[in-house]
Amino acid sequence: MFTSLFHDSRRLAMSRLLILYTGGTIGMRPSPAGYVPGEGFAERLAAQLAAHGGEALPSYRLVEMAPAIDSANLEPPTWNRLVEVLARHWDDHDGVVILHGTDTLAYTASALSFMLGTLDKPVVLTGAQIPLGQPRSDAPGNLALAMQVAAHPAAPREVCIAFHDRLLRGNRARKVDSLAMAAFDSPNAPWLGEAGIELRLEQVPTLPEGTPDFSSVAFEADRVGVLHCHPGMSPRLVETMLEDSRLQGLVLLTYGAGNPPGLEGHLMERLQRATESGLVVVNLTQCHRGSVRQGAYASGATLNEAGVIAGQDLTPEAALTKLQVLLGRGLRGMTLREAMATPLRGEMTAPAAI
Ligand code: GLU
Repeated sequence: MFTSLFHDSRRLAMSRLLILYTGGTIGMRPSPAGYVPGEGFAERLAAQLAAHGGEALPSYRLVEMAPAIDSANLEPPTWNRLVEVLARHWDDHDGVVILHGTDTLAYTASALSFMLGTLDKPVVLTGAQIPLGQPRSDAPGNLALAMQVAAHPAAPREVCIAFHDRLLRGNRARKVDSLAMAAFDSPNAPWLGEAGIELRLEQVPTLPEGTPDFSSVAFEADRVGVLHCHPGMSPRLVETMLEDSRLQGLVLLTYGAGNPPGLEGHLMERLQRATESGLVVVNLTQCHRGSVRQGAYASGATLNEAGVIAGQDLTPEAALTKLQVLLGRGLRGMTLREAMATPLRGEMTAPAAI
C-alpha cells in the first residue's frame, strides 16, 4: 500500500518526545477534491508550534511515515510498522505521540495496546478534525495536550488518546462524533484525565508497567469479521459468513443486553456449529454504552449454550483488534477463548465486576 520510508527530523539534539506522524486530517491540505495528505509536514508543524507557545512544550524528534495516509486506508500491517519505529526510538525518549487520522485512530490505539502489552512510557495518539494551519483548527490544542501528557511524569504508562481536552484509555475509546471537535469518548470507562486551565490526571487504577513487546504480529486478512444483527437479517448471508473456513474470530453485535434475533432457531444453530468447529465468537451490545448480560433474557442465554463468549463492555474496536492481535500471535482454541473473556490491558470490566 505504501513504501516503508520514514523521514526523520530532529528539533533539538536532546529530544524528550518521539512524534510519529502517520497522516490524517491533522496534516492534510485543502484541494479542489477535498482534504488530501500534504507535503512539508515537519516545517508546518514547527511553524504552528512556534505560533502556539511551542517553546514551552517538550522538545521532540519527528518521524514521518512516507507517504502519509488517510487512516481510512490503514491495514493491520501498518501497526507492525509503527511498532518497529517505536522499538527503534524507545530508549531515547521519555514518551511517544502518534499523529493519526481520526477515522481509525481508536482501532490503532486498541491494536497497539494489545501488541505492546506493558509499557514504561506513555504512548499518546491524537489527530484533528480541522487541519493544522486552517482557521479554527483543533490541531494545536490536541497536539499540545498530547505532548504534555506524553512527557508528564505521572501520566499513565499505557496507550491513550488525547483529544479535545480529554485523555482516554486507547482501547476503551471510540470516535463518537464525525463533526464535533469532541470526537472521542470512552463510554464505558472513566476518562484518564481532563485539561482545563490545569491538566488533571485522574487516579484510576493503573495498569501493570513493564518493557513493551515490540515483536511483530502475523496479521492475516479474512481472519476476523463482524456480524451486526438487525431486523430482517438474512439467514442465507449469516450462513455464508459462518461457513467461511478462513474466518477464525467473529464479533457479534446484538441488541440491548446481548440479545440476538432468533431467526427461527437458525442463528443459534449456525453459531453452535461454528463454535464447535473452532470459530471464536464474541458477543457485544450495539448500544453506545453498557455491557452484555448473556443470560438476563432467554434469547441471550442461548448464546451461552452455543459457545459464544460474553464480551462484557468491550468496544467493537477493542474486540476486533484483540482478536486480530491474539490470532496473529498464534492463540487458538481454549487459550484464545479465555484471553478474549479476560481483561488484558484494561479494555473491559472483569465479568465478576459487572
Ligand atoms: N479519513 C481521514 C483519516 O482518518 C480523515 C479523518 C481525520 O483524520 O480526521 O485520516
